[in-house]
Amino acid sequence: MDDSGKRIDGKLVSADVVAKVAQETKKLIDETGVIPGLAVIIVGEEPASQVYVASKGKKAKECGFHSVQHTLPTDTSERDVLQYVRDLNEDPAIHGILVQLPLPDHIDENKVIQTIAADKDVDGFHYTNVGKLGTGDLSSAFVPCTPAGSMILIRRVLGDDLSGLNAVVIGRSNIVGKPMANLLLAANCTVTIAHSRTKDLSGLARTADIVVAAVGRPEMVKADWIKPGATVIDVGINRVDAPERGDGKTRLTGDVDYEGALENAAFATPVPGGVGPMTIALLMANTFTSACRSAGRDVPQF
Ligand code: NAD
Repeated sequence: MDDSGKRIDGKLVSADVVAKVAQETKKLIDETGVIPGLAVIIVGEEPASQVYVASKGKKAKECGFHSVQHTLPTDTSERDVLQYVRDLNEDPAIHGILVQLPLPDHIDENKVIQTIAADKDVDGFHYTNVGKLGTGDLSSAFVPCTPAGSMILIRRVLGDDLSGLNAVVIGRSNIVGKPMANLLLAANCTVTIAHSRTKDLSGLARTADIVVAAVGRPEMVKADWIKPGATVIDVGINRVDAPERGDGKTRLTGDVDYEGALENAAFATPVPGGVGPMTIALLMANTFTSACRSAGRDVPQF
């Protein structure tokens, strides 16, 4: 179907964000000598994680960053991982530290995340950053990349003033649903967080001017859940069987029946090509922001 005019193109918007980060990085280096530094720690050999980490490193280089990757064997002790984090906390060449999740079972993920210095926590998972976002202190917080990227997409189509709009966020995870709800609240939306125990989810979704789906259930959100004229942000990434592509083939799909939703929505993000590319772009933006802060410079808007 022809979705032009309604499709929110995350590839395009993320390319704009990355281009701006690269341009501002050049300026920062020329004027201060500070090179934004991003360190990624990966423990184990989970193939999906390896792909994510490789693409983060590639994007960091594209932005002109100093990029380092610590690949540790699966049996690395928690103590050693914590020591890597502490060393990076002290390293002045590093402005952003990211620990690729999930970690092997013998390592306490939360302990590792809370050991990252809050002012290098470019994923925005440290309690200090969670607290800043929760209290509306967006100027000094690091905001988790996926919700931050989703907000940019929303603003691209609805503009900066979201005051009074009804937003329904489906999903209450700490990495997507809750921070997304806080960002929409900070933007003066009236926000409802729905989850697996919510009653009449479809009825609730139909009240929304903005629907954000972050559940992990393929095409759960149907056409008739969407109010005419609403904006739909699909965070979900689900791999499903695609026998039409051949034996054993799969494809990615979101939490929203995209084609169905477009019957009612004014704007919607596709999967793939919507929120996904924004996440990595915002990781670059957060790392650049951290470098600006450490150089005492004003941080540009992305
Ligand atoms: P999660 O499993 O931590 O949380 C899922 C949430 O959905 C929970 O809060 C749960 O209450 C809710 N839920 C489950 N079943 C439900 C139902 N039937 N009705 C209503 N709510 C229900 O997941 P997450 O980490 O927040 O990720 C959600 C989705 O977003 C996944 O598909 C994930 O792959 C994707 N994701 C994408 C990106 C990206 O870069 N685009 C980043 C993070 C996560």
